[in-house]
Amino acid sequence: MTNSLRSWLQAEGILVQDLPDFLERVKVIDCRINPYWERCGMPEEHFTNASFLLGGDEIVVGVYTKPELRLASFFHEVGHLLSRKHEGRANWLPSWWERDAWREGFAWAASLGVTFSPEVEAWAEAQVATYLPEDEEVLALTRS
Ligand SMILES: [Zn+2]
Repeated sequence: MTNSLRSWLQAEGILVQDLPDFLERVKVIDCRINPYWERCGMPEEHFTNASFLLGGDEIVVGVYTKPELRLASFFHEVGHLLSRKHEGRANWLPSWWERDAWREGFAWAASLGVTFSPEVEAWAEAQVATYLPEDEEVLALTRS
């Protein structure tokens, strides 16, 4: 059972007027109704306070300890879809993609009248920081 991105947002109380075509095709699998771990073989803990993109047209929304984190995380995944315009930049570090996805997602949220608390913004920054050690490895490889 999946929702369209539009109907998922509507259920969250967010009405969207104009949606770009590529977002119109996106489906949302919400683990509150459809526990994705039951069919993907990954442990349930993977889906606590975390969401994922499946290919380019499905977003798996995990189970969140705070509703505001669910919404922020959802917009982050949309941000990944919106930041595909940078896709030619193969030398971008993972944390750059992550930071860009937060920026693009939050900017789109703001255009819909959705804003986040400083606490959630700090949480988003902390998510980006989890990518930094990996980036250092990438840098070390490019340097040699
Ligand atoms: Zn991300």
